[in-house]
Amino acid sequence: MPGVPVAAAPAAAATAAGGGASKATVDTVVHARWVLPVAPTPDVVLENHAVVIDKDLIVAILPSAEATDRYEATTVVHRPGHAVMPGLINAHTHTGLTLLRGCADDTTLFTWLHETIWPVEGAFASAPGFCADGARLAMAEMLAGGVTTFADMYWFPAEVAAAVEAVGMRAVLGMVVIGFPSAYASTPAEYLDKGEAAAVAFGHVDTLHWAYAPHAPYTVADETWADVARRAEATGRPIHTHVHETRAEVDASVAGDRTSPSCHQSDTASRPLANLARLGIVNRRLAAAHMVHASDEDLAAMAAAGASIIHCPSSNLKLAAGLAPVAKMIAAGVNVALGTDSAASNNGLNVLGEARLGSLLAKGVSGDATAVPAAAALAMATINGARAFGLDALTGSLVVGKKADVTCIQLANVVGCEPVFHPLSAVVYAACRKDVSDVWVNGRRLVKEGVVVAMDVPAVVAKAVGWQRRIEECLAGVRKKQAADASEKAA
Ligand SMILES: [Zn+2]
Repeated sequence: MPGVPVAAAPAAAATAAGGGASKATVDTVVHARWVLPVAPTPDVVLENHAVVIDKDLIVAILPSAEATDRYEATTVVHRPGHAVMPGLINAHTHTGLTLLRGCADDTTLFTWLHETIWPVEGAFASAPGFCADGARLAMAEMLAGGVTTFADMYWFPAEVAAAVEAVGMRAVLGMVVIGFPSAYASTPAEYLDKGEAAAVAFGHVDTLHWAYAPHAPYTVADETWADVARRAEATGRPIHTHVHETRAEVDASVAGDRTSPSCHQSDTASRPLANLARLGIVNRRLAAAHMVHASDEDLAAMAAAGASIIHCPSSNLKLAAGLAPVAKMIAAGVNVALGTDSAASNNGLNVLGEARLGSLLAKGVSGDATAVPAAAALAMATINGARAFGLDALTGSLVVGKKADVTCIQLANVVGCEPVFHPLSAVVYAACRKDVSDVWVNGRRLVKEGVVVAMDVPAVVAKAVGWQRRIEECLAGVRKKQAADASEKAA
């Protein structure tokens, strides 16, 4: 075991517990067989330790016996066969699309976007409740799977913000901008202004964070990127976008082929990342989803700039985008986090599953079985996601003074996990999200003994089923029109 960084508590209100000994009064003490703090290094394993929570903060991490001696807690949770770790971070998703899970599988990214996702969004994204209902469905799934923080990129982020505030998850909401008008906004400036207004309106919610979210180089023009760069410089907010997801995006942009829908919206014939660097986007604030097609030069530039990559292994496989060179990214010094992408291209929001797949794929792609070991995969699923969005002082690891974003996973007495030789290995390679027992976000318990207590989950699911009927009707109309257009073209 690595050294045990026992952190002492800045004691909360101390109360006399009789006999001269005094105990500090706190909200919660979680005793666990294993604590995996992902700090100071990702491989730390503390046995028979406790995590002490008061209000929204972690106030101590120490041996269980000492915790019992020193703290009087309103709630004491014993998890004798479990691993307690930082809450998982889904660093790239589109929560509204959870309502489109499985409605268009087994197709290419551009067919998927142009023939299903965008027409359905055009019909429904502005419909009352669509974005919030999608976000609630996504949050129910993510919480049950141990996720405490997600970075979202979707229409009407103010609706999503209200839903997130009510549930109590931590989120980095995207101030989305795309180069065509929608029901949400008409011009790029209007998109960005609306996003900034939402960020101000929800500024009082301390679990809500905001990022500029220009969709992608192939949908956003140079002048908008430059505007985003200026705004991000002024506000210090991160920039969350898609970059180099497909080979076609890179090839068409290098060729300057503006007739291709994959080409970046620039007259500069270059790799999209190089163009973004020219426009002031590639710096420590950049969280670039995918980077599947990353050259050594791309990775060196990102590492030097302190930019992050959000690796989305399931989505990349499902859309046949390619195999991201994750081992190379890490070797180059780039911060690599994990995302599920949307449930429409995955088809789940299972960060634990992405950690396992991310580790296995990195080994397969690099031909190196030592690439992305379990501890590194857990870091990708936690602290690296926090770093990508500038939240690493708040969350992503269990450290005294950080927010109490905590996930507990049962390993002992679980068929499929036992025997547990190494808890880190069990969490990454063997555990399933059904093994998640408890989740706290900002000190609030949102999952208790496997049940999402923060939400009325049956009601959330019923809403999703209602949307399914409307989406099916809409898609039948879209398909009819597509068939008519095709036959007209053929005639
Ligand atoms: Zn995406």
